[in-house]
Amino acid sequence: AAAESTVTFDSRFASELADMAVPWQAEEAPEPRLLVFNDALAEELGLDASYLRSPEGVRLLLGNHVPEGAAPVAQAYAGHQFGGYSPLLGDGRALLLGEIVDANGRLRDIHLKGSGRTPFARAGDGRAVVGPMLREYLVSEAMHAMGIPTTRSLAVVGTGRMVRRDDMLPGAVLARVAGSHLRVGSFQYARATDNLELLRRLADHAISRHYPAAAEADNPYLALFRAVVSAQAALVAQWMLVGFVHGVMNTDNMTISGETIDYGPCAFMDDFNPAAVYSSIDVGGRYAYANQPVIAEWNLARLAESILPLINEDQEQAVAPAVEALGEFRGQYSDAWFNGMQAKLGLPAVPAGSPEAEAASELVDGVVAILKDGPVDYTRFFRYLGEAARGNERPVRGMVMDLAAFDAWAGRWRSMKPDADRMDRLNPVYIPRNHLVEEALAAATGGDLEPLNRLLEAVRAPYEERPGLERYAEGAPEDFGKYMTFCGT
Ligand code: AMP
Ligand code: MG
Ligand code: MG
Repeated sequence: AAAESTVTFDSRFASELADMAVPWQAEEAPEPRLLVFNDALAEELGLDASYLRSPEGVRLLLGNHVPEGAAPVAQAYAGHQFGGYSPLLGDGRALLLGEIVDANGRLRDIHLKGSGRTPFARAGDGRAVVGPMLREYLVSEAMHAMGIPTTRSLAVVGTGRMVRRDDMLPGAVLARVAGSHLRVGSFQYARATDNLELLRRLADHAISRHYPAAAEADNPYLALFRAVVSAQAALVAQWMLVGFVHGVMNTDNMTISGETIDYGPCAFMDDFNPAAVYSSIDVGGRYAYANQPVIAEWNLARLAESILPLINEDQEQAVAPAVEALGEFRGQYSDAWFNGMQAKLGLPAVPAGSPEAEAASELVDGVVAILKDGPVDYTRFFRYLGEAARGNERPVRGMVMDLAAFDAWAGRWRSMKPDADRMDRLNPVYIPRNHLVEEALAAATGGDLEPLNRLLEAVRAPYEERPGLERYAEGAPEDFGKYMTFCGT
């Protein structure tokens, strides 16, 4: 096995945006132990897995071995947290090691979370613990397997240090991979400096990394904004279609790339519930399931405000085009959600405005009414509906309350000839259900990684029902109770 570093980091963010990057070093881990490693992702990144699994490679994944030429930095950003503005957040416990060029020639960030205090740490200890880092690993990999844009997880390394939370818990560092870590909050930070040249440099950096076509537009910065609006409309629609509740959609947790980021208090709904909220601190339900599109739009308005002076030197002249571009969010989101829901029902794409489109729209409204009438396990409902499309209606009829209403709806649905195979390719059997995630994380915290690896195996092929994995497809047991998640642990 290679023991020589084969990882070459670029430092584009650190050099192009030095005003937003603090050179920093990770805290030394006393007793590193690789807990999970993502071989498929390593390959996609063109990285040598055997090197990264070696003692030096593991130290690299902790930020304790810094290859020649690498320049780790903590990134500065601002953000609205639960609607309240913080002018300075930044990576309090994370570092950007740098960028690498992946096997497809794309630039990807390699970032560490839990790597020790930085100048942005405020009262935090800079550390992370095993459970939440494995949670991010698991859920981000599940999202990726469902085709949802997301940051990825390369590895979780135990530090061998106990960390004080409510109890003492084993510490860990997550090695995260992303198209970039540029956030709405990055633009808020740059705007707040009143340094227009910095704001422009940041926007040019974002255009070059994510939306190169915007550079050719009449107004590149308006085109950048439009591109982010589209990416976020598509992303949030995908969350809604799989029943994902992000839980902490602060503007610092919304990417410019359109990748899902920050899997702190997230959860998947079991029973369909528009008001679903899991985060212990979200007492007002600001980030509840059904609020996510509106919150995304609100966050995008904060992005628009930040780049107004780039859209037009005369900011008053910039308002109308920015408002118009933001106005496209609702239609794009609704179209993406509606088309996705139609696909989940196995219905063919139909021309807008046609009588078939009208019928499909009524079926989508009808299925939402059935779900709301509940309680219905959201994920299993669609899977059982696939069985119904094959002629076996018993499982899905066993789930719903109002059978007469369901039968009337199902009659109209069947007359549209739903495609069961297509449904099975779109409606997951296996998602990281809350009770399974908790079970896996509790075992892993106690040193047993087997339940985590089994669950990972299930969610990495979410559409393919396999024998032996029955319990991964079932809802939470009665005694699981109301689920609650926690941020920043
Ligand atoms: P989050 O809620 O994960 O988006 O984090 C919000 C802010 O808190 C970011 O600036 C984080 O870097 C910071 N933060 C969260 N946990 C810690 C910690 N244990 N130590 C230092 N900073 C932290
Ligand atoms: Mg965050
Ligand atoms: Mg977090």
